[in-house]
Amino acid sequence: SASLAELDPDIAAAMNGELSRQRDTLEMIASENFVPRAVLQAAGSVLTNKYAEGYPGRRYYGGCEYVDVVEDIARDRAKELFGAEFANVQPHSGAQANAAVLMALLNPGDTMLGLDLAHGGHLTHGMRLNFSGKLYEVESYGVSKEDFRIDMDEVRRAALAARPKVIVAGWSAYPRTLDFDAFRSIADEVGALLWTDMAHFAGLVAAGLHPSPVPASDVVSSTVHKTLGGPRSGLILAKKDWAKKLNSAVFPGQQGGPLMHAVAAKAVAFKIAATEEFAERQRRTIEGAQILADRLGGEDVAGAGVSVLTGGTDVHLVLVDLRNSPLDGQQAEDLLHDVGITVNRNAVPFDPRPPMVTSGLRIGTPALATRGFGPEQFTEVADIVATALVAGRDADVSALRGRVSALALDFPLYEGLEDWGLL
Ligand code: PLP
Repeated sequence: SASLAELDPDIAAAMNGELSRQRDTLEMIASENFVPRAVLQAAGSVLTNKYAEGYPGRRYYGGCEYVDVVEDIARDRAKELFGAEFANVQPHSGAQANAAVLMALLNPGDTMLGLDLAHGGHLTHGMRLNFSGKLYEVESYGVSKEDFRIDMDEVRRAALAARPKVIVAGWSAYPRTLDFDAFRSIADEVGALLWTDMAHFAGLVAAGLHPSPVPASDVVSSTVHKTLGGPRSGLILAKKDWAKKLNSAVFPGQQGGPLMHAVAAKAVAFKIAATEEFAERQRRTIEGAQILADRLGGEDVAGAGVSVLTGGTDVHLVLVDLRNSPLDGQQAEDLLHDVGITVNRNAVPFDPRPPMVTSGLRIGTPALATRGFGPEQFTEVADIVATALVAGRDADVSALRGRVSALALDFPLYEGLEDWGLL
C-alpha cells in the first residue's frame, strides 16, 4: 500500500521538517531525548493494531499470546532495572501514571502534600486546574528563600500541619538530588504514604548516579521518555502490597487498552538502560549540566544579571535565574531559539514576572549527551549560551548560529533514517 509520503504528503512534510529541526538545532529541553532506532521500530510497529485490555494471562481479548510476551518482558526488565517488587508498564504517559497512583492511594477529598508548582513541582502534584487539584485537597511545600533548595525541616513542618495521606517527592524543575530517607521518616512520623515521581531523573537512577527512591517509597512513578531515553509513556513501580490496587487503578480505573507498541518500545528502552553504554551516557549528561552550571554561574555572566539557582546542579539540568537580567524568560528562550538552541522558559521560585513570561530558563543536557556530546562540546555549548545571554539584544546571532551548526554537523543525528522505512 501507499507510503506515508504518497498517501499524506502534508503530514510527511511536517514530519520531515521536524526531523531536520532535530538534526540542525541543539535540543536542550530538559525533558526531551532522542530514542534509538530499535525503540523507534518498536514504537512504529504492528503492535499498534492489538487490543489487550487486562494483564498478561488475564486479557479481555483473544490473540494476546505475543503481546503477553512483550508485556511480561517489559515488567520484568523494569523491576530488575530499578530493584522494584512490582511494575505496571501500561500507563500511556507520566500524567496518566500519576492519575492511577493517586486513584490507588487516595480517595477524592483526601489530602496530598507535594512540591509547589511554582517551585518546580508538576501539574499532577496538585495544580488547581489539573485533576489532582480538583479531586484532592492539596497542600504544598516550597524551596528555601535563601538557597532555593528543598529544606527537609520545612517539609516536616508542612507535613505536621497538613497531616496528608500522601507525601509527594519529585519534581519537574529542580537541580538537586532529594533525600528520600528523610521523606520516608517524615511520612512515617505523620502516618502518610510516600509517592516519588522520578519522571525527570529515572535515567540517572537506572545508571546508579542518583539516589534511588525505590527502597524508601511506597510507590514510584515515572515517564520513560526523559533521561530514561525511551518512548513517550509512563511507568509505575511499587512495593508488592500495592500491586492489586495499582493494576486496577491503571486498568480499568484510568485506561482502556494499553498501547502495546509503546509497551514494546519501553521494554527495549529498559534493556538499553541496563547497559554500561547507557551509564556512560548518563555520566556525560550530568557532566555536561555541571559544565553549563559553572559557565552560567561565572563572574562575567553575573555582571549581566545571569546566575544559576542553587549555584550548580547534581542532575541533568540547570535552572538559570534571570531575575536581575534585562532579558526575561520569554526573551531569553526566543534569543536561544534564534541561535539554534531549544530550551524552555521556566518560572523561578518567588518569580516577580508573570508565568507566561517568567524570569528563568530550564536547560537540560540529556538529548545532547545521547547525540554524543562530551565535555569539549558542552564547554562550547555553555559558551554559546553564556555569550548570548550576556549580550542580550546585542548578541551576534548569526555568529552564534554558525557555532551551533558546526556542532550539529559534527554530531549527525539519525543517520540513514531515510532508509529505515519509517517515513
Ligand atoms: N511527572 C513529572 C515530574 C514530569 O516532569 C512530567 C512531565 O513533564 C510528568 C509527570 C508528566 O508526563 P507526561 O507529559 O508524559 O504526561
